[in-house]
Amino acid sequence: MDLTEIAVELDREGIGASAETLYGWGRSTHSEALVVRPTDKDTIRRVFELAEKHGVTVGFRGSGCSYGDASQNGDGVVLDLTNFAKVRSFDESTGLLVAEPGVTLEMIWRQCVPLGWWPPVVSGTMYPTLGGLLSMNVHGKNNWQVGTIGNHVRSFELMTPRGETLRCDREQNADVFHAAIGGFGMLGCFTEVELQLKKIWSGRLEVEAIATANLREMIAWFETNKDDFDYLVGWVDCFPRGTALGRGLIHAARYLGEGQDDQAKATMRESAQDLPSRILGVMPKNKVWYLMRPMLNDYGMRAINAAKFWSGKRGQTRNEPYKQPHAAFAFLLDYVPDWKKAYGPEGLIQYQTFVPKEAASDVHPRLLERCHKRHIVPYLGVYKRHRNDPFLMTHAVDGFSFAMDFRVTSSNRNELWQLCRDMDEIVTEAGGRLYFAKDATMLPRTAETIWGKETIERFHALKRRLDPNSRLQTNLARRVFPGWFSS
Ligand SMILES: Cc1cc2nc3c(=O)[nH]c(=O)nc-3n(C[C@H](O)[C@H](O)[C@H](O)COP(=O)(O)OP(=O)(O)OC[C@H]3O[C@@H](n4cnc5c(N)ncnc54)[C@H](O)[C@@H]3O)c2cc1C
Repeated sequence: MDLTEIAVELDREGIGASAETLYGWGRSTHSEALVVRPTDKDTIRRVFELAEKHGVTVGFRGSGCSYGDASQNGDGVVLDLTNFAKVRSFDESTGLLVAEPGVTLEMIWRQCVPLGWWPPVVSGTMYPTLGGLLSMNVHGKNNWQVGTIGNHVRSFELMTPRGETLRCDREQNADVFHAAIGGFGMLGCFTEVELQLKKIWSGRLEVEAIATANLREMIAWFETNKDDFDYLVGWVDCFPRGTALGRGLIHAARYLGEGQDDQAKATMRESAQDLPSRILGVMPKNKVWYLMRPMLNDYGMRAINAAKFWSGKRGQTRNEPYKQPHAAFAFLLDYVPDWKKAYGPEGLIQYQTFVPKEAASDVHPRLLERCHKRHIVPYLGVYKRHRNDPFLMTHAVDGFSFAMDFRVTSSNRNELWQLCRDMDEIVTEAGGRLYFAKDATMLPRTAETIWGKETIERFHALKRRLDPNSRLQTNLARRVFPGWFSS
């Protein structure tokens, strides 16, 4: 493989390429790659041609918000699509958006909220690109109500490593449509996406906060009340044990209908959605991660979690809803920029499991117990409700997900990976799943149990058809599906 020759050829053609170290969002993994930042399809096609000529692999990257190694391609080329980012059209009467793959959720809501539209599904951060969102088939806090982002994609254009472009929708190339969404960048590059946005009548949601004494109570609350809300998310304090195991706070929200917000015009201004630039009104946000750093240990995080729980319990607003801008509700994790850096040099991993509804109140508390047994407690836990979807390599199930953030240190790394493998067994025995967007630890045999040989073979057959020389690779794909790449 000769990346230098590719860099020289690209340079001669006026296409910039640079050797860079790329990290996963959680900063627990990194690798070196030749990074190219195309702004159009011709450049992508040219990179594919050169990769073929030199026998080099190509991976895609959006904003790099996947926690693990999904958007890294060590010792290969990485096509960073963030500069291929124009909105081609937006029809304000129908809410249909046509955009290039580097357009982010942030660009979409900034343009569309004042026109009365909101992205139908959003992640907990506003920075992901359309290409990244489709490749992982991202879910939001409304997953059980509206499905994943793929459910709202009208069509897309995909460029294969042979330079062909395929238009895919539910009729045309339907097999590719259902596999490339959630296909972790293995079938081709999304070069255009048609997405249906959601009509809104206010810039705000009506929100209620509810404290729950433990995880089982949270699960029961979700099940009983889910039909009354559009969004549900549970924050879990992972430190207490016994009857308080998995205590937490639920935030449940509803859209406001037409005429329900007398300040609708003002709340739908872009500026009304902006997150505050200072924390507690005084501290500049971009310094906060630095101040958090001394607290990022078991003692500090136990105290912070307890303080959050008790202040949330005091302020719970069941039956006294309050109003909150869409962006503030959806992108809580963006309040403190770079908060991941507070985790220190080895970063963090997120371990998110999706478990069928019948098994969740057994499996998820057991996972927490397992963490305590191994003395590695997640510093953040997030709970959500999901539903099935028609995408081939989907992560979602009709059930619940529990996302746990673990600090990685040089001394806990092996033990933490072992803990994840113990938890893999508990989850897969119950018919649960993991999620490529968050993953850093999955083993090939775990993937085989989750998706099954037949589904994986169907996906691989499509990959062989669209990418016969296995040009498209990432560190995650080589780790989880090594058989696809062994010659
Ligand atoms: C704080 C935080 C909160 C999050 N909350 C959620 C959440 O609530 N729900 C959820 O589902 N996820 C969530 N995520 C995960 C995130 O939404 C996904 O990882 C998403 O894929 C990131 O998009 P990206 O543009 O950064 O893509 P990257 O992470 O850069 O790449 C993701 C995948 O997409 C592929 N890819 C990128 N562009 C293209 C393209 N044009 N064509 C083909 N393949 C491409 C890459 O190869 C890679 O496999 C969260 C992440 C963070 C950091």
